[in-house]
Amino acid sequence: MLTAALNILQKHYGYPAFRSGQKKIISSLLSGKDTLAIMPTGAGKSLCFQIPAMLLPGLTLVVSPLISLMKDQVDALSNIGLAAAYINSSLTLSQTKERLYLAKQGKIKLLYVAPERLESDSFRQLLTSVRISFIAIDEAHCVSQWGHDFRPSYRAIAPLISSLTNRPLVGAFTATATTDVQVDITRLLAMQHPNTYITSFDRKNLSFTVLRGENKQNFVLKYADANPQQSGIIYAATRREVDALYELLLKHGHSAGRYHAGMTDDERSASQEAFIYDDIHLMVATNAFGMGIDKSNVRYVIHYNMPKNMEAYYQEAGRAGRDGEPGDCILLFSPQDPLTQKYLIEQSISDPERKTHEFSRLQFMVDYCHTPRCLRKFILGYFGESDSPEQCGNCGNCNDDSELTDITVDAQKIFSCILRMKERWGIALVVDVLRGGKTKKIRELAFDTLSTYGIVTDYSAQELKDLINMLTAEDYLSLSEGKYPIIKLAPRAYTVLKGEARVWQKVHKRPVKKAADNSLFELLRQLRRQLAEREQVPPYVIFADSTLREMSEVYPLDHAALRTIKGVGETKLARYGDEFLPVIKEYVTANQIIVPQAVLPTTIPITSTPAAKPGKPAETPSHVLTMELYKQGKTLEEIAAERSLRIITVQDHLVRCSAEGHEIDWSPLIPPEEEPLILNVIESIGATMLKPIKEALPPKISYETIKAVLCKHKM
Ligand code: ADP
Ligand code: MG
Ligand code: ZN
Repeated sequence: MLTAALNILQKHYGYPAFRSGQKKIISSLLSGKDTLAIMPTGAGKSLCFQIPAMLLPGLTLVVSPLISLMKDQVDALSNIGLAAAYINSSLTLSQTKERLYLAKQGKIKLLYVAPERLESDSFRQLLTSVRISFIAIDEAHCVSQWGHDFRPSYRAIAPLISSLTNRPLVGAFTATATTDVQVDITRLLAMQHPNTYITSFDRKNLSFTVLRGENKQNFVLKYADANPQQSGIIYAATRREVDALYELLLKHGHSAGRYHAGMTDDERSASQEAFIYDDIHLMVATNAFGMGIDKSNVRYVIHYNMPKNMEAYYQEAGRAGRDGEPGDCILLFSPQDPLTQKYLIEQSISDPERKTHEFSRLQFMVDYCHTPRCLRKFILGYFGESDSPEQCGNCGNCNDDSELTDITVDAQKIFSCILRMKERWGIALVVDVLRGGKTKKIRELAFDTLSTYGIVTDYSAQELKDLINMLTAEDYLSLSEGKYPIIKLAPRAYTVLKGEARVWQKVHKRPVKKAADNSLFELLRQLRRQLAEREQVPPYVIFADSTLREMSEVYPLDHAALRTIKGVGETKLARYGDEFLPVIKEYVTANQIIVPQAVLPTTIPITSTPAAKPGKPAETPSHVLTMELYKQGKTLEEIAAERSLRIITVQDHLVRCSAEGHEIDWSPLIPPEEEPLILNVIESIGATMLKPIKEALPPKISYETIKAVLCKHKM
């Protein structure tokens, strides 16, 4: 059975292997055991019920929370040649009957339904005509009141199961790891002695960062500017904040959408759709947005406010990078955040025990925002994983790129001004006094006679406010609770005033511009967009970003090569192969790129070089020009700039010159620490295919370096 499962994975999904946990979950289900699977968002739960559904006799019912997204999921399945359908309230009775009829004949193996359907007697009656062998409950935490997305209709699932003559297999899937939710799921879904699998919550491709006391608006604008074509979500705490940020982004020319509970259903689904279909790149939303949205190419998730606990944070942040490509998760902490969350807990929970519990979860979140330790280790520790390394090398604390500036004198001015104002005022007035404001209030309170009046001259009001926020976030100052928070000195500030400690401000180099996508990737993305429009499906249903990226690095030129790309299964190969191959071929020809296999002496098809255009005198070939500059001692960057080429093209040119017999100095092309790693891998798996070599190496080692090593050693 497991071989059959692997076969489906490779043939239909086009993935070479199961991710960790998937195999166990699938084999548990195939052996007929009720199964509870707990995996973080983006880890790949869908496969775990879709593949068994194909292998079990009869029909699989998938209970899924969002009607609006069922169509996308079903489209994605048919696109890889798997027979699925959905039933929701938009269908007529006869359409519903038709789908059940197809299910009875085995022509539909997977049927998606919203939980509300299961409450309808007539629908339950209709279901009795089909043999249901498996019920898969996606986002199963919706059954629990303790989860953050309680959906009363999920309570209709257990009665449905017990009403069926032959009890189906039950599988439940969630990303929520708390034990009270787990217990609720097995009890409320009436699961029988379920096998429970919890996979690691680590998502290696996600990088976590916390920024404290940053000017948030500036940050978001700069970040969005630096990452223009990338899809991102910005979560803010309130509708008001969502609206304001949305307007701000529009004003600065970004294609943004918004999503919150104050909008109409139509507005929300239009906005959601625009985001899923890549019509807009930025979604500004409250936490109402995101459940059930499987958009795989979200490249970053920014939290404009600190969420109430780690479960919520990890679920929302985890919507980045489902395709396994890098994703940035940035939390902008401000000192006001814990106060707001405390207030919400006070307001919404009356049971004292639960309240304490929520406060302690909140405290953990605050600690996360302040820890100097590895953020990933901190998160994983929360989810009960104690064996992760001390340093992950992929979080804001492991890769602290900030520079420290000594701001002790400015901090002393601020602290002493607050003291002289008797610690009874809010941030706005403190700023005003420090900058020597001439307001009536200041005169009345005689603050213009303080020695600290007007002593800060080189900060704008906003900059000074940011600085005070930063000092609060770093626990030099504290804010009182309530509507008009008062700012006071924390113990830490006194040591600074006494001159016993210095204050350093971190200046982050972020937001960094992501490595620019290469231009072939851009072309493939455009093509994907056209196909998506033609077929009325979201672009990621055609191919994931990771699949396009691999194409743009490996340059497959025929069906066989294309089929080896992750995410290209047989159905997609047949459907889209002839659309994508010409674009890749044209690009390879136009840029005189040597395709990897061509590095091998026996198969060099360098003759595909475009002939000099008729009527034009023969020129020195482009790659030789590159080499001439290189021999003059120019760096790769300089050559790229001078010739308007990408660096990888420059590298390609040099490799090609070497393949043609020119002497090349390899040292700038091959980082010395990478060469032995690459040679090692080649020794163990051979040099015939580039891709397996790349995959066996750390991701930062590029195809270009591998090609260069192959060429240098004449392999
Ligand atoms: P979840 O429901 O757990 O949040 P999904 O089922 O939506 O995650 O899967 C996330 C992404 O991972 C999808 O793009 C999916 O195609 C991909 N994926 C799942 N399993 C594998 C695998 N074994 N190899 C490669 N990609 C996979
Ligand atoms: Mg899912
Ligand atoms: Zn780390």
